[in-house]
Amino acid sequence: MTTTESHAPELAEPQMLGFLAQLGIDVEFIRAEGDTLFYRDGAGEDVPVLDVAGGYGALILGHNHPEIVDAARDFFAAGRPVLAQASRQSDPTLVARLLNDILRREFGDPEPYYAVFANSGAEGVEVAMKHAEFARVLRVQDLLTEIETHLAAVVEAVDSGAARVPEEVLRRLGAEPGDGPGILADRVRAAVAQQAAQPPVFLTFAGSFHGKLAGSIQLTHNAGFRVPFAGLAASARFVAFEQPGAVAEAVEAEGVDVPDLLVEGGEIRLVQRPFPTVAAFVLEVIQGEGGIRMVSAPIAAEVRAAADAAGIPVVVDEIQSGMGRTGAFFASSHIGLRADYFVLAKGLGGGIAKTAVTLIRESCYRPDFELLHSSTFARDGFSTALALRTLRVLEADGGAVYRLAARAGERLRTTLEKVRADFPDVVAEVRGRGLMLGVEFRDQSTSPLPPLREATANGILGYLFSGYLFRAHRIRTFPTASAVSTLRLEPSVYFGDEAVAELDGALRALCSLLRTGDPRLFETA
Ligand code: PMP
Repeated sequence: MTTTESHAPELAEPQMLGFLAQLGIDVEFIRAEGDTLFYRDGAGEDVPVLDVAGGYGALILGHNHPEIVDAARDFFAAGRPVLAQASRQSDPTLVARLLNDILRREFGDPEPYYAVFANSGAEGVEVAMKHAEFARVLRVQDLLTEIETHLAAVVEAVDSGAARVPEEVLRRLGAEPGDGPGILADRVRAAVAQQAAQPPVFLTFAGSFHGKLAGSIQLTHNAGFRVPFAGLAASARFVAFEQPGAVAEAVEAEGVDVPDLLVEGGEIRLVQRPFPTVAAFVLEVIQGEGGIRMVSAPIAAEVRAAADAAGIPVVVDEIQSGMGRTGAFFASSHIGLRADYFVLAKGLGGGIAKTAVTLIRESCYRPDFELLHSSTFARDGFSTALALRTLRVLEADGGAVYRLAARAGERLRTTLEKVRADFPDVVAEVRGRGLMLGVEFRDQSTSPLPPLREATANGILGYLFSGYLFRAHRIRTFPTASAVSTLRLEPSVYFGDEAVAELDGALRALCSLLRTGDPRLFETA
């Protein structure tokens, strides 16, 4: 039985397939090369489709890049093991070294970063979340130990008559005048223990997207994706995006002190100690699924300053923006944001392997994490070999690929800006950098076309545009997941003039139909 037999029931996410069928984009691709996917039509002809969705941003080098395919062939030709966990492996080490070379070049700081591998973007984010929480818990333990030492000294000093407890301290701890130092110590212990039992908080920006697993979904702002699973893990505080002062305010709002007692000059003093409540500030420097929105350098500086002041690590999720797409390996280097953790995935496997890596700065790194965290397939031989080759392709010829990305992105952006200038009533904004671009369309809730009004109300507007561009122009693009009026344009660095012209023509046709409320928007090819 073949998979294409029409009577066979569809059991692999049939609901999603039904949605794609409604849009007329439920074709099966049989071949892929560069920025082109091919499907076979009813007459047996291969039909090329221009792929501007780029595997949701994973295809920085396009489909089946010859050097990455060669790396895969070489790997198997040599009979290398894919799975030999808990052994010495040189490729992950070489990947980590190369990433450190890139970090030093882009941020100019010699402090090394350690690499923990994972299998997907969300998993990489969760490695960062787990590590940051582990580090926080260890900080909490250190604080508790220190407070315990102080309490023992207080009990000893009061019992031996070396220090007295001022009334004010008794009052502030809710103790009675005759209460001994043991009771005071218990009051402090109870307050600290109550705080220590609270789950951690993660800070992130409104509009963020950090994945859809049980932990990472808590940091994904879109309520539709997140709220049903809110009970599964520690929650986030979402900070207003690009609003001066908002970051410091959020950090301040999460600030909690716990009591401590000290012996000073023959008296017991009650002091307040800052308690680490926030595990990390996690952000994308260019929000991808939130509609391609860039964090500015001044806001990045606010994040760094507020986090440093409060001892909170900064995790930069470069899963979509990294790997050279914006013209530099790390998009954060454009705004001078040096993170404590960086997360990479998508393009790391060269468009073929599934892999991710979380880079953690030495001063934040807790080596025992390696004994606590593991994953059967993470850092497997195949994907780390492909990641290594991918990094070498990106870094070859003094970073020629980054220059290609910047140039191709500039060309595409100029074209999109012209479309916006010619259709300001249809296109609201063009955003992004390099090959991470978004075109935001204006609201269609008053369109003369009922399906457009309905799609707007149902939050699927951009998918109608995807359907039209595919059916009428054989172009594949999708809206960003959490901002569905924005089409994402994330082709490979090899996206040439011809492809730009093709996309230009198709977008202009779409804009004309939207402008006039033309029902040909819904015609099937
Ligand atoms: N973070 C960002 C910034 C992303 O864009 C994505 C995927 N769109 C993820 C995390 C999750 O990656 P994955 O789908 O591989 O789990």
